[in-house]
Parts: sequence; C-alpha cells; structure tokens
Amino acid sequence: MPNNDVINDVFSKNKFRGMILVLDGLLGGGKTTLARLLTQTEKHIKFSVSATTRPQREGEVDGLNYHFMTKEEFLKKKEEGFFLETTEVVGQYYGTPKQQVEEALENGEDIIFDIDYVGTRELKRQMGDDVISVFLTPPSYDSLKQRLWDRGSETEDSFKLRMKRNALYLENWKEYDYIFINDTLQDTLRRLQQILRAERLKRHRQPWLTPFIDEFTGQFED
Ligand code: 5GP
Repeated sequence: MPNNDVINDVFSKNKFRGMILVLDGLLGGGKTTLARLLTQTEKHIKFSVSATTRPQREGEVDGLNYHFMTKEEFLKKKEEGFFLETTEVVGQYYGTPKQQVEEALENGEDIIFDIDYVGTRELKRQMGDDVISVFLTPPSYDSLKQRLWDRGSETEDSFKLRMKRNALYLENWKEYDYIFINDTLQDTLRRLQQILRAERLKRHRQPWLTPFIDEFTGQFED
C-alpha cells in the first residue's frame, strides 16, 4: 500500500478542488482534538478558525483556536456579511469567516470544520457538493459525561446546559454522510483519513480529468 508521502505527491501534481470536511458530534465528544490531529497528519488540510464570543479557555490561543471577539464586534461583522454561517450555543455566538473557505477550496486545499448541526445545514445549503459531513458519537453516555468533565472547563450549570444541548444534537445524526463511534483516537483518525482518500477521488473534485481524458481520447482517432 502506498505511504502518505506517495499519496500526497500524486495530489500535489494534479489540480484537485478542495473539500470541506465537517466534523460534528456531541459537545465534549473529542471532535476538536481529532480535527487538530487531522491537520497535523494531512498535508492538504487546514482548520477553519471560527470567531466566537465565548470566553477563552486555558491553553487556547487567539487566532489559532478561535478569533475571540466581543458580542458587539461579532454582530457588526455579521451584518457586514463577514460570515458564511453563524450559530448561538449556550448563549454565545460562533461563526465561520467566509474568505478563508473560498480561498482554500480554489487552491485545492481541504478545510476542516468543527461546527454544530445548525452550521452544517447552512454550509450544505451554501456549498453543496463541497461538503462532507461526519458525525462522531462517544462510545457511551457515561464516557461522554466523563470527557466533558475531564476538560475541566465546565461549571455545574454549563455542564447541564451542554448535556441538554447534546440530546438535541443526537436527534440530527441522520443528516450526516458518515457516522461512527469515536472510541480510540487512533481508530477514528484512521477512518477519517480513509474517508478523505476516497472523497478526493470523486469526479467533481478532479477538474483536471477533463483535459486529461480529452487528450487521451484524441490519440485513439488516428
Ligand atoms: P466550544 O465552545 O466547546 O469550543 O464549541 C461549542 C460548539 O460550537 C461546538 O459544537 C462547536 O463545534 C461549535 N462551533 C464552533 N465554532 C463554530 C462555528 O463557526 N459555527 C458553528 N455553527 N458552530 C461552531
């Protein structure tokens, strides 16, 4: 089986259209960690940095994890058409800046989104076939509670709110292209890489094929 370098090389020689990978699932389910890991293992994928009004958590870097802003700033930018989509989660706003997405796709780069189902629906509506959606579930209810607590960023109240929100998230699982249990990071990462490999080969992501096949066909005519 070819290794990652060989595959990355094939991709860099031909012009592929980038794709949007939406990683969704329950709050505290580990999707943010996975999204970050994917950007480290895959050469052509970058993380869509959202804007948010929620307070910065320990260890988070402005501009890397999120663009942190005030509610006033956020609403002003929203009105100016700065965002591709926005949502409100537990009283805070989140949104995807438009420009970075359009640029990435045209340059053949993939872009990974860590957003909720409201944003996923809106992205699908606006970007159609460019979007591949994946829903991750934790292995069990107890493990979800554990993961959310282990993060150390929740108060008793925000924990309850997030679990309530999770029940709502779970109702939407049938809207996704792929769904699987996020049991071990390694297994999930491998599955995500497999999805990316296969999706990249879809015909609409390879515009370079048309002139290639035309040239090929032309040679049969003599
Ligand atoms: P957290 O506060 O835990 O970082 O994120 C809370 C929720 O907001 C998560 O489900 C995350 O996926 C979602 N989220 C983060 N950024 C965006 C965004 O730009 N748009 C939407 N629709 N959801 C987002």
